[in-house]
Amino acid sequence: MHQPPIPHVAGTDPDIAALIQAESRRQFEKLRLIPSENYVSVAVLEASGSVLTNKYSEGYPGRRYYEGQQNIDPLERLAIDRARALFGMDHVNVQPYSGSPANLAVYLAFMHPGDAVMGMALPMGGHLTHGWSASVTGMWFRPVRYGVRADTGRVDMDQVRDLALLERPKVIFCGGTAIPRTIDFPAFAQIAREAGAILVADIAHIAGLIAGGAHPSPAGHADVITTTTHKTLRGPRGAMIMCTAEQASAVDRAVFPGLQGGPHNHTTAAIAVALHEAAQPSFRAYARRIVANARALADGLLARGYTLISGGTDNHLILMDLTAQGIAGKPAARALDRAGIEVNYNTIPCDPRKPFDPSGLRIGTPAITTRGLTERHMGQVAAWMDKAIMAATKGDDEVIDAIAAQIRELLADFPMPGWGGPG
Ligand SMILES: *Cc1c(COP(=O)(O)O)cnc(C)c1O
Repeated sequence: MHQPPIPHVAGTDPDIAALIQAESRRQFEKLRLIPSENYVSVAVLEASGSVLTNKYSEGYPGRRYYEGQQNIDPLERLAIDRARALFGMDHVNVQPYSGSPANLAVYLAFMHPGDAVMGMALPMGGHLTHGWSASVTGMWFRPVRYGVRADTGRVDMDQVRDLALLERPKVIFCGGTAIPRTIDFPAFAQIAREAGAILVADIAHIAGLIAGGAHPSPAGHADVITTTTHKTLRGPRGAMIMCTAEQASAVDRAVFPGLQGGPHNHTTAAIAVALHEAAQPSFRAYARRIVANARALADGLLARGYTLISGGTDNHLILMDLTAQGIAGKPAARALDRAGIEVNYNTIPCDPRKPFDPSGLRIGTPAITTRGLTERHMGQVAAWMDKAIMAATKGDDEVIDAIAAQIRELLADFPMPGWGGPG
């Protein structure tokens, strides 16, 4: 059953209630290895589901366009103060609806249409909103794209510097969605300074690792930091923009009134709850365990002959090239899902295949670490993945279904926030 219980949805809208129950069971029974996903605490779920959703509060604390902000102002101030303390930045805006609107606000704050923006190319591990052509950021701005070196699988900092000095982008994004290695924020900052660009660190994937001390922080290097709150940070779906005092008013004006209307106050409350959780010593241990699990899983996959981009991982994420196994990412991901293992199919750097049918898989450990799995389980996880992928190459569904049963059995012993058990 979903936790907290949902008897009112069940009473008035059984169709939706059934889907919520089915999804909570699915999340309980599967090894969720999508690196951008997690399990939030019941406290975060409660705050997200609260009456705060009823309130309009366009503006910022102390400067609102609606009456009745006696509780919303202190709530938003708490969220801001907690984020400032955790990430060590002068100013924080907690209102962006999600990571993509947060990045769009950065363009609005610092650029005009047609200006150059530099970011990692999407197929190399960047995000759509870093100037990819299918995104408004690549249509209304002039994208300059860097990638990783073919030989090392790591960001090509020589290329970043050469392109920055040649193209003089207004904004440089570092960070991405499929980067298995530590991001060198000081090196990016040095290049941005030389090129006269604003450096934006998009830490959507690694915010929880940074908060927990398991990845270096961009604070003191980047002018602006954008992040989602729902990935390793383990909060509700939402985002934050953090910046130096100098950039504060441009950022705030871009979010409201530039791009958005009323903030989602129930989300702000849930972000505040998640930030409080992330400030506890137990969260530091969680962040370290995410990385330890990813390293152990990478070792298990390497031992079984899999090719990992960059040869391994420093963080929560593994990017795997399946070319040598003779199977593409999509059929492998589908077979793994049937086997109870949820991953993304993903492009690999310099992928010879098409983006909708790429060569790789993207795998991450934030969610299974929240469930309580440790390094000693990762050998078994790698073995299951290997067995399922091999079975997929032979179309052996029996083997795949047997793995799903074994995984359900293992996970039955690992509680999930949001699931109160069957019945
Ligand atoms: C997830 C992600 C985003 C976008 O977040 P949404 O909430 O999905 O809009 C932006 N940048 C990076 C690097 C991300 O990983």
